Amino acid sequence: MNMGRGISSAVSSLESTRIESTPIESAQAQPAERDAATSLANLVVDLQARGLRVEVPLERRHGGAGPSDSGMLWVGGFPITVPTDNATAADSPYALKAEDDGYAIFEGSQRLATASPQQRPRFYDLTTADGIPYWKIGLLHLDSFASTVVQTCSYWGNDDQCKFCGIGISLDSGRTIVKKSPEQLAEVAAAAKELDGAVDATLTTGSSNGIDRGARYVARCGHAVKEATGLPVEVQFEPPRKLEVIDEVADLGIDSVGIHVESFDPAVLAYVAPAKARTGIEAYFRAWERAVDRFGEGQVSTYVILGMGEDPELTVQGCRRAIDIGVFPFVVPIRPVAGSLMEDVKPPDRAYTQRIYRQVGAYMAERGMDSNAPKAGCARCKACSGQPSVQPLLQIGPRPVQLSHAS
Ligand code: SF4
Repeated sequence: MNMGRGISSAVSSLESTRIESTPIESAQAQPAERDAATSLANLVVDLQARGLRVEVPLERRHGGAGPSDSGMLWVGGFPITVPTDNATAADSPYALKAEDDGYAIFEGSQRLATASPQQRPRFYDLTTADGIPYWKIGLLHLDSFASTVVQTCSYWGNDDQCKFCGIGISLDSGRTIVKKSPEQLAEVAAAAKELDGAVDATLTTGSSNGIDRGARYVARCGHAVKEATGLPVEVQFEPPRKLEVIDEVADLGIDSVGIHVESFDPAVLAYVAPAKARTGIEAYFRAWERAVDRFGEGQVSTYVILGMGEDPELTVQGCRRAIDIGVFPFVVPIRPVAGSLMEDVKPPDRAYTQRIYRQVGAYMAERGMDSNAPKAGCARCKACSGQPSVQPLLQIGPRPVQLSHAS
């Protein structure tokens, strides 16, 4: 990577203005501002590819689903999750260090950007009446309350286990409980909102063998959280065997849903997530169409993981087709979870992810999909993706070239 000596001052000038400009303002951006936006986007995406060495106290997340083995922080104003506890991070050129007034990202002796780490949430110090620490029931991912409501999955421990997943790891380590009740989740989410400013709730679940694949229970939990807190809630589940289940989820007042295909490359999906491959990509589209009918455009999202050997053209095509029906493709680099079947995979490099971010972002803009549309969940938070840092460049830089092959 060639950051150049100018990145420090360039990013600093951007941090003082923050890139929240309208397309018209952006089109008129000065070269210095454009350079700063480019440098910051490069840094954000590179941090997610190469990780961060941490030399100061930082709230981190170990094991489980979601942003595992990661630090959570704001860099140049962008909320991001960054690998901090794996082999990739140990070799990273980037370090998080303390300054006189706060923290910053350094490469060697060069200061690159201001960083604001997530503080330990105050609700982590509370326990339920029956003695369960709140942090075993739900976590704070930056400003989102998050929980895996059922920490088991019918695919875990057999040939169907998704190779990137770590749902059983945090259970084995004692960092969570096997099943959270709606009442427990409501109690802890209320504390996360009151004490730590949570702005939404993201609830996921392992997949069950039932016709609903766990959707009904996670939706009941979501309903309880929403009733208790008023927060927007996303629930995540596999495509149910009967699409009517999606109507039941909607009838419980849930705001957004995540139904995650993970990859649009059928060969990769068959290798990394055999059970999802048997469900089939077309079944995801049928579930998404039903969900968009009930939740609205932009309120249905799917993870699309980069760096698993996927064909980038199939990936972009799949994202475009999803956008066409109102589904938000949440594109992220793989985050190898220690102990998972893909723990030794290296995240894809910046050039590869940025090209796909540009392709997908340009198509979202062309089709009028608002990147801020999701009310709740991973696609609302966006911290696991570098897409938000790239999006402004689509407005102030040249249009991306056609994607042909991974760099
Ligand atoms: S469906 Fe796959 S990703 Fe989801 S919990 Fe089960 S094993 Fe993990």
